[in-house]
Amino acid sequence: MSEDNIDRNARFDAIVVGAGFAGLCTLHRFRQMGLSTRIYEMGTDVGGTWYWNRYPGARCDAESLAYSFSFSPELEQEWEWSERYAPQPEILKYAIHVSERFDLRRDIRFNRKVKTAHFNQGMGVWRVTTAAGDSAVAPLLIMATGCLSKPMVPAIQGVDSFAGKRYQASLWPHEPVAFHGERVGIIGTGSSAVQAIPVIASTAEHLTVFQRTPNFSVPAVNGPLDPGFVDAFKENYRDHRDFHKRGLTSGFGDLEIKPRERTPAAMTAAELSDEALAAACEQYWQTGGARFMGVVGDALINKDANQRVAEFIHRKIRATVKDPQTAEDLCPTSHPVGTKRICVDIGYYETFNQLHVRLVNINRSPIERITAKGVQLRGEHVELDTLILATGFDAMTGALNDIDIRGTNGQQLKEKWAEGPRTYLGLMIAGFPNLFTITGPGSPSVLSNMLVSIEQHVDFICSCLQHMSRKGFKQVQTGLDHEDAWVAHVNEVAHATLFPKAGSWYMGANIPGKPRVFMPYAGGVGPYRELCDSVAKDNWRGFVFS
Ligand code: NAP
Repeated sequence: MSEDNIDRNARFDAIVVGAGFAGLCTLHRFRQMGLSTRIYEMGTDVGGTWYWNRYPGARCDAESLAYSFSFSPELEQEWEWSERYAPQPEILKYAIHVSERFDLRRDIRFNRKVKTAHFNQGMGVWRVTTAAGDSAVAPLLIMATGCLSKPMVPAIQGVDSFAGKRYQASLWPHEPVAFHGERVGIIGTGSSAVQAIPVIASTAEHLTVFQRTPNFSVPAVNGPLDPGFVDAFKENYRDHRDFHKRGLTSGFGDLEIKPRERTPAAMTAAELSDEALAAACEQYWQTGGARFMGVVGDALINKDANQRVAEFIHRKIRATVKDPQTAEDLCPTSHPVGTKRICVDIGYYETFNQLHVRLVNINRSPIERITAKGVQLRGEHVELDTLILATGFDAMTGALNDIDIRGTNGQQLKEKWAEGPRTYLGLMIAGFPNLFTITGPGSPSVLSNMLVSIEQHVDFICSCLQHMSRKGFKQVQTGLDHEDAWVAHVNEVAHATLFPKAGSWYMGANIPGKPRVFMPYAGGVGPYRELCDSVAKDNWRGFVFS
């Protein structure tokens, strides 16, 4: 890194932390508004999630044509996605393309881990420092740090003593990793592992999967995109985008399905016979993808409906996995389906029929410790050449709490959030003026198409800044009353669903000691957008300008 590149007491209109999709979108829009902006990015390139998560089989489980920026009609028409679910290298290529196409890179400093962000009340600016030695000030600070960006290393005894090759799924090397002739072990069976396991099994000599909690997984039904389908989609891109933005739930879905049609998706499970529900599940199973959870209208709010959908997946697992004990071990029973993020796979359950793949249920055979040569289970040592940790993230708050962020009166964000995150609309935090979070806790974020949610937040922030500039305001903040009311609303909505019934990362339950609070907003992207729009219309209700 050239010393000349270091910012020393630099001044900008805005500082953005992170050059993933949220940071890129913010920078592009701020440029259009004439704001001088600096992004500090920890990685050596843009892409965020798609820069770090390079494990074998990594791909998005949102459909490519929907999981892309809508702000440039030319970009969306010209960019060609190869598959229904884009593989990680292609999404990374897209992020790099966006950064070049809109000439964003000149305002991004790479290899910069932001260490501190302190608000100077007297001057009304945020001072940001990085581990590389930069220091810069700006009145506006945008945290585009991502929801799943702080990897979690499990506190398993001896985890650092393994002498073979050890990889973290979310910090995968940039160089190719080969498994030929190797005994590989993987800890974790979340979305990352479910994607990685079939691919690793295809070349490893032996693969041991250490599973604590089985997850529900549905087939992706991935494949090359049909050019005719793409042309038709692109002809109608505006309508599709609009449909995603106003969606009642996550911001995906088919334009063709009319909300008023009496398909099972618009009915409750109680209205359907077992045969009718099974037929609907089968149809969604064959169609593929996470939209499976939309098979009946009340799958995520009614215990019985959920149980009937879960049993359909159990039957699929038992029909696929030949060894009865392995099949039983793979059947999730400890949480309602969908309350931990449903996985989307390509041949996951089938992989366990291969003779060189073994599932270890660590509830029956607990991991005692990791040794130099492998994993010591109770009563058995599993020798390994390579150990992979696919153990997830300190989600939603991890990356923010990692930075020493201090607002008015020196209050530290981490302290403020000791009992769980508190925000107004997932966008602002009382006591932290001019600081916006993109897809922060309390917003639809991880329950939604991230691109839809990112663009909505960036649009909202830009409108707010335009309002300030028109009125001559320099500062915006939110108050505790509105923050408290929003936190209560987020909780109320979550508790009307089955989500809180799972010990999920949505609840902070995967991190020892983390408060158990349901972090995202489960009210759906469309209703959330309407709420934000009504806030703006109502003279920016809950925002205080000065
Ligand atoms: P995850 O869903 O949190 O899964 C982590 C896995 O590690 C779980 O099976 C967990 O078991 C296990 N684990 C953690 N600590 C352990 C320990 N001490 N001993 C044994 N097992 C342990 O993490 P992830 O798979 O990285 O996925 C996180 C999220 O990223 C997903 O839910 C999804 O939102 C996103 N993602 C998306 C895609 C995609 O678009 N296709 C791909 C990957 C990830 P327990 O369940 O028992 O805690």
